[in-house]
Amino acid sequence: MVKITIDGKQYEVEKNMTIIQAAERNGITIPHFCWHPVLSVSGNCRVCLVEVEKTPKLVIACATQVADGMVVHTNSERVIKARNAVLEFILINHPLDCPICDEAGECKLQDYAYKYSVGESRFEFEKVRKPKRVSLGPNVMLDVERCIMCSRCIRFCDEIAKKPQLVFTKRGDHVELTTYPGEQLDNPYSMNVIELCPVGALTSKDFRFRARVWDMSSTDTICVGCSRGCNTHMWVRNNEIMRLTPRLNTDVNNYWMCDHGRLNTFRHVNAGNRINSPMVRKDGILVEVGWEEAISKVASEIKSYKKHEIAAIGSAYATNEDNFLLAKLMNFLGVKRIRCLTHWKQGGRDDLLIQEDKTPNYRGAQEVGAVQDSSEANLPGLIEMLQTGKIKFLYVLDDDIAADPVFADAISKLDYLVVHASNENETTKRADVVLASSTYAEKNETMTNFQRRVQRIRPAVTTLEKDRALDGLAMSRLDKFGAQNDRWTKGMQCDSRSSWRITCNIANVLGAKWRYAAAEEVFKEIASTIPSFRGLTYLKVGMNGAILGQKKESVTVKE
Ligand code: SF4
Ligand code: SF4
Repeated sequence: MVKITIDGKQYEVEKNMTIIQAAERNGITIPHFCWHPVLSVSGNCRVCLVEVEKTPKLVIACATQVADGMVVHTNSERVIKARNAVLEFILINHPLDCPICDEAGECKLQDYAYKYSVGESRFEFEKVRKPKRVSLGPNVMLDVERCIMCSRCIRFCDEIAKKPQLVFTKRGDHVELTTYPGEQLDNPYSMNVIELCPVGALTSKDFRFRARVWDMSSTDTICVGCSRGCNTHMWVRNNEIMRLTPRLNTDVNNYWMCDHGRLNTFRHVNAGNRINSPMVRKDGILVEVGWEEAISKVASEIKSYKKHEIAAIGSAYATNEDNFLLAKLMNFLGVKRIRCLTHWKQGGRDDLLIQEDKTPNYRGAQEVGAVQDSSEANLPGLIEMLQTGKIKFLYVLDDDIAADPVFADAISKLDYLVVHASNENETTKRADVVLASSTYAEKNETMTNFQRRVQRIRPAVTTLEKDRALDGLAMSRLDKFGAQNDRWTKGMQCDSRSSWRITCNIANVLGAKWRYAAAEEVFKEIASTIPSFRGLTYLKVGMNGAILGQKKESVTVKE
């Protein structure tokens, strides 16, 4: 450790740190474009110039190591003057198109220009013109004029994605970012360069020109594209999810997420095939009904079957709370057969983030008892029992089991099929009752990733259920926004419920006396009944998740 003084205050820091790291560690921000905490140092933007006493010239904080007794000034007159000059220099050729730039509102150059520059340029000549719309690959667009040559995107591809695809060509103020000859920016993590880019040079083909950043709300949640559960921000405008961006969690995904997760894991929330209310099959056709009718129908059908004729399938897509209450309902009924399907893609993993298990919560479903016996070994047994008609009533939680042709055939032999689903799918087409369940973007619950880390999902879009929980705010919101806004009206029309709540409603009609006002109460019970969850609360899980305790020995689901 060494002692250094930054802006008159003394700090003790590790001796191998740079000045910018030491400052960041102690809550002091030194402006920077090219430096990034987990990329190599390139030292080319020069915005992080600081003054070090007894050193004749200003030094760049990103590439200067601390030394014992070092005295650093980050805001002296010399530093401010140099920073002004660097910003003026960078802005010489940067187009002033903030009003039409996607980055506006989250642009480092815009922020620094307001904060640190003198607000005017002495440059009176024509700016250098460069290409404005260059497709770098399937997902990323480049505006070459906006590039400030920080090289963050190049270093990301080289060092993190391990796919060298980007490079600078030409010299001086004619430098241009491009791909290597014959290459595209198409690695599985290519879109991370969009957030890395400190300006609006790199934009998402999917999101560009669709929303201004200040018109969206951002909710901290996780990606459900695989069992990694990357931490994300979910950006919503007018009740429609516009984009997902990665959220820093050094234990799970660091600063990154993959393009698949970013682009494909929220479409079903916005999709037109949402199931807006429960449905019961009448005269061969699924008909929308109220919740009371659907729930009593399911309860009376359950009563008409013997317990050995019933089976349930939990869901690796559903939350810990949903799976726990499904297991508890089956326990209450004395039903032993509860399984959960895996959705693995052989070879579908890499060394950075992507996992073979393409579901977010198989581990959680296992831990809370929705996978009794070893499910892999017993799935063929379950299929055989379905095919031979031994199982007559099947209860399926949020999984499109009929997408698998073997299951599609097996469930055709059933007498009765009850399905929780948020969107129409192959299984809902065959169901006798469809219970409209909420998506992960509408729920305040938990999932457990492949590392046995419990993480929270949070509601970002509105359905009737969410607003019901907001104590009658629904009608006032509908008055305020509904009249002018299709999305809000649509959200308000979607009468879906969290799966745990649906299961709870059915159990109570069957004679259970479960009183859960919120998912958090279900989680409290999980924490008190499942040893590995012991001691966990939503508060402890917090923003970064919490690792489960001892491994599950046996599942005891209390009634
Ligand atoms: S495109 Fe953006 S990230 Fe890449 S070098 Fe230019 S400014 Fe930096
Ligand atoms: S690695 Fe998995 S969890 Fe992470 S963004 Fe990709 S799909 Fe989502």
